Amino acid sequence: MNLKDKIAEYPNFPKKGILFRDFSPILKDPSALSEIADEFSKYFHTKDIDVFAGIESRGFILACILASRYNKGMMMIRKAGKLPGKTIKLAYTVEYGKDTIEIQKDIIEKEQRVLICDDLLATGGTAKASAKLIEKVGGKIAGFAFIIELTELNGIKGISKYNCKSLVKY
Ligand code: 5GP
Repeated sequence: MNLKDKIAEYPNFPKKGILFRDFSPILKDPSALSEIADEFSKYFHTKDIDVFAGIESRGFILACILASRYNKGMMMIRKAGKLPGKTIKLAYTVEYGKDTIEIQKDIIEKEQRVLICDDLLATGGTAKASAKLIEKVGGKIAGFAFIIELTELNGIKGISKYNCKSLVKY
């Protein structure tokens, strides 16, 4: 199956000039769903991963699919203000301003190896900040899994020291 055929394109969403890539058709198709898990499991070895982390919000979906396939747990990296209990935050710069991501304070054990998941790598700002946040609390980055990578934005540059895998490149 060509996974690219299962990615929809929406011009001018969420704002004018942006071509939004949407992986909803993959989620709807059971064989595409198992194919993404198959593809990542060829690349990342179970012995190198302790837990999966999903970046809000479509990253949660990929993290759960992979956690289930690898028989591991998952945790959420959320936009600030949405997680209960004690949390750790990290602010980072985006195209027009700042964003803050957050995790629960004790969600990661020291040296735990975390595989970070998101649907799409664009500028890499979110991915890089996620790695920083996990490292800040003593975790280690096992790698990054993306379904889609927009190569012309070169987001991979900021996370190239990690083991990164994207399934569909534009
Ligand atoms: P970055 O921080 O790499 O610039 O942006 C990546 C984040 O923005 C990801 O969490 C991703 O979900 C979202 N994103 C940016 N562009 C798109 C797009 O075209 N389609 C989808 N599905 N998400 C996008």
